[in-house]
Order: sequence, then C-alpha cells, then structure tokens
Amino acid sequence: MSLANNTIASLRDQIVRGETTAHATAESALNSAEKLNGSLNAFLEIDRDGALNRADEVDKKLKTETADETSALPALAGVPIAVKDNICVRGLQASCGSRILGPYHPPYNATAIERLIAAGSVIIGKTNCDEFAMGSSNENSAFGPVKNPWDLARVPGGSSGGSAAAVAAGIVPVALGSDTGGSVRQPAALCGVIGLKPTYGRVSRYGLVAFGSSLDQIGVFARAASDVAAVLQVIAGRDRSDATTADVPVPDYSAALTREMAGIRLGVPRALLGEGLHAEVRTAIEKAIDAYHDLGAEIVEVDLPHAKYAIAVYYIIATAEASSNLARYDGARYGYRAENAPELRDMYRRTRDEGFGAEVKRRVMLGTYVLSAGYYDAYYLKAQKVRTLLRQDFGAAFARCDAILTPTTPTTAFLFGEKMDDPLQMYLNDIYTVTANLGGVPGISIPCGLSAEGLPIGVQLLGPYWSEARLLHLAQAYQTAHPLQARPQVHA
Ligand code: GLN
Repeated sequence: MSLANNTIASLRDQIVRGETTAHATAESALNSAEKLNGSLNAFLEIDRDGALNRADEVDKKLKTETADETSALPALAGVPIAVKDNICVRGLQASCGSRILGPYHPPYNATAIERLIAAGSVIIGKTNCDEFAMGSSNENSAFGPVKNPWDLARVPGGSSGGSAAAVAAGIVPVALGSDTGGSVRQPAALCGVIGLKPTYGRVSRYGLVAFGSSLDQIGVFARAASDVAAVLQVIAGRDRSDATTADVPVPDYSAALTREMAGIRLGVPRALLGEGLHAEVRTAIEKAIDAYHDLGAEIVEVDLPHAKYAIAVYYIIATAEASSNLARYDGARYGYRAENAPELRDMYRRTRDEGFGAEVKRRVMLGTYVLSAGYYDAYYLKAQKVRTLLRQDFGAAFARCDAILTPTTPTTAFLFGEKMDDPLQMYLNDIYTVTANLGGVPGISIPCGLSAEGLPIGVQLLGPYWSEARLLHLAQAYQTAHPLQARPQVHA
C-alpha cells in the first residue's frame, strides 16, 4: 500500500474496516522513508522500532473493542506523522539541525506530540531542518540539505524542508513543522503541499525549541486541507504549560471545510505584487485571484502600508529573541560540549564556536548588537514600534476583507547554492511570510499551479486572529476546483 494517495479519513476507514492495520500503514511509511532518504535527506532519524510498537498498540486496542466502539476510535488512529527535529519527542533526538544539540534526546514530549499520541497517531521520525529553524532553503542544516522531491537540484525551502519534502513525496500524509517567519508556508509552497501557520497562541509551544518566542508557532503540512484540519483539531487549544496559549474555543475545523463561498471578501494588496516577484509566480497568483472570483468570492483591494518594513523588522526582532534563547547552549546543560577546555569560559566559547554553524552565529551577533545598550532604542525599540503599526495595518485590512491573498514566495524553488553567498537575498525570500508572524495572524500556503519547468507555486492566504477554519475552507475550495495536476519526480 502507498500512503501517497491516502488521506487521514480514507486511512482511518480502511483501518476500522479491517482492510489494513496501523502496523501495515506504519511499515509502509517507514519503508518509503528509508528508501527515499538517500535521495531526499528529509529524515534525521527514522524510528522503525518505536513506530511499529506504537502501531501495534493501536491495532491491539482496535481488536479488543467492539464494532460500535471502533467508530469512536481516536481521530488519528494509526496515522503516520513526521515531526520536525526542533519539536521534542521523548526518546528521539532533537538536534534542531545543529551539531550543538546533535546528541540531545529530550526526556519529555512537546504538548502537540502528547496530543497526537493520545489521538492514536504514530510518529515515524524526526525531519531535517535549517539549524535552529534559521533559513529559507535548508542549506543551513548541519546534516546536509534536504532535496526538493520535484527537482533534486533545487532547495525544498526552509526551515521545515524535511517535513515538507516528506509530505510532498507521499511518505506521510501529514507532518509538523515550525513557522517563525514562514518556515511552514514557504517550504510548503516550494514543495507543492499545504502548509498552515496557526494564530500565535493557537498551538502550544511547550516542547518546541525556542527561536523567536514571540513569533514561533507549530504548523501543519499535508496534501489535503481536510488532513490539516484533522491534525490542527487535535493539537490546538489552551495548554497550562504554555502561558501564551489562548483560552479561545477550538471550532470544528472539518465541519468548516464545506462552508459557502458566497459573501467572502478576499483582499489583494496590489502594492506588494511589484518588485522582486517573478513573472511566472505573478501569473499564477493572478489566476488564483480569478479562480476565487469564479468560486464566488468578492475581490477587494487592501493596503498594508507598513509591510515594506516587515523584513527589516523581522530580522531585528527574530535575531534579538534568538540571541537570548540560544544563550542556553553553553556546553553545560544540553548536547555537545567541547573537549579539552580546562577553563569554564574557554569551554563555553569553544562549545559555541564548534557547535553552531555560520548562520546561527550571524544571527546571535546581529541580535546581540540590536539589543546592546547603545543601539537598543535605534533598532530593537524602533522595530517593536513598527511591529505595532503592522498589526494595525492588519486590523484595518481585515475590516475590509475576510482574508488577504498574496504569493507565498517571490520565486519557485531555487538551485542549491544560488543564494548562500548573499544572506540578504535569502532573507528577501521571506517577504510575503514574515508579516503574519509579526502580526500574530494565521496564514496558509496552498499549491496553486506549476511553472513552465514543472515547479510548484503557492498562493498564501492570511486571516484575522483565530480564522484557521476560514483559511482551511478556502484551501479546500481551491483544491477541489483546481487540484495540482502532477506529482513530484521522487515519490513513494
Ligand atoms: N526564513 C526565516 C528565517 O530564516 C524564517 C524561519 C522560520 O520561520 N523558522 O528566519
């Protein structure tokens, strides 16, 4: 059996009807993961034994329950899932794509993981990512880059490239990533899958290794909108272990998928569709706008006047928070420690020098600089003020529309090495995604077409706080009308 053509609902049905088992499903995912990892490098750890044991437990539970009870089977019973390597799963590694955490095995589960396990899901492994989730191409992983399943010479996007590639290649139906400035939506766009970043505070960050704490959110990858809905349903909601989770009711996401399009207003910020946007992406986005119009949505113009500052603001706030969060990796507490460092300060220095890669060091230096006494007001404080203006832009825009439509990325997947020598070019890739994290609003990337070279293009929708149900409905409507007509070169 291949998982490439199955949704969570179809898998669950087959398991309940006895046509397959959680064991066979997990085995199929594990086989594909192992078989394709040589070409994709999407997984840093594949947990064959753990996954099969877990699947056996699900099967046992199924057998001992009567037919009536199986219909009340947990929502994700037997569903294999891949998890980005910066989310803690007890007993598995959590390297965050970094040498400094390479040997670290957390003794606890992230809240999202606890909830997935309780819902019957089977974690098959940890996925490769840019070091500490810093990057847009996966080339910053200490363990080599993930390859894009549509074209192995190209990047899968970052930082959650392993999760995006695993879903795109049909290894798993769903995967978790994290999105601080676009790391779920951007790789989703470049790999031709859906990627959702929930509202800040919707999903617990407990057990997600911190990068930029005021921006980070766990997000979901899937090929089908209904699968994103099913996973979000399980992981969303208040968590006592994360005080930034909100006590806002979690709606029925699956029920929302079939809502009506009539009355929906989609806002297009035309001013953002200018410089730097590649012609093919622009054409695909114009087609997506027309497609939503044809589906019954009203298209209105909106303005986000401060969005032009978003990249600058993001790279000040994210680096400031990262420099503080990453201070804990000193060789004393987690993971790697430099050898032959007899003196304490020397041990700190050498551990960090040997353990962190170039991009992480660059960010720690930038972050320390913008927080330093002499520059705090000029950079950090100023950035926080502009962040407030950007939030106000969103408030004004959402008074005029239900969701804002933009490209997810300015280009399709680029070649390895293309932007590595120019960090600013790499940062500019995030131009459409970072605004959502700065504003705290949810965003989704939906595959909307293919370039002439056959590379996927993503359209992004941003909504007001807690509007995930609306975004999922819009994704479902688009996918039903315009499914992607091709599959990646490398797939299960
Ligand atoms: N590409 C952005 C960065 O490098 C976003 C990363 C993320 O969302 N984790 O910071």
